Amino acid sequence: MNSILLPRLNAKIMKNGKESRNLTITAAENGEYELLGPSREYGVKLREYSCQCGYWQISEIPYSHAMAAISHYYGKSVLKDKVSEFVHNSLTKSVYLQTYRGMIHYIPYQRGDHTCLLVY
Ligand SMILES: [Zn+2]
Repeated sequence: MNSILLPRLNAKIMKNGKESRNLTITAAENGEYELLGPSREYGVKLREYSCQCGYWQISEIPYSHAMAAISHYYGKSVLKDKVSEFVHNSLTKSVYLQTYRGMIHYIPYQRGDHTCLLVY
């Protein structure tokens, strides 16, 4: 499975990673973490792709709570390579290209002496 992320998505995830620095993290077992935010605690379960606040399950990309846990689990040096494993398959580049394949048509178009290609 090719799991390259679209650049814009990747940038968003990395931004989430920066926001995660404000959290205090406590590691439990099996990729489970307790995060202490400014106002409350959150339980993150990496293996279930879930967080107590529910946002990871909805957004399908690792946001700040998830990033804090992933960063701790793998270490910051490989975070960039590993983070795509925690993104929903439908959001990776290969699936994106697959989805839109067939929707891009090249149509020869003539105007005066010039032949151009229009992309719809
Ligand atoms: Zn959360």
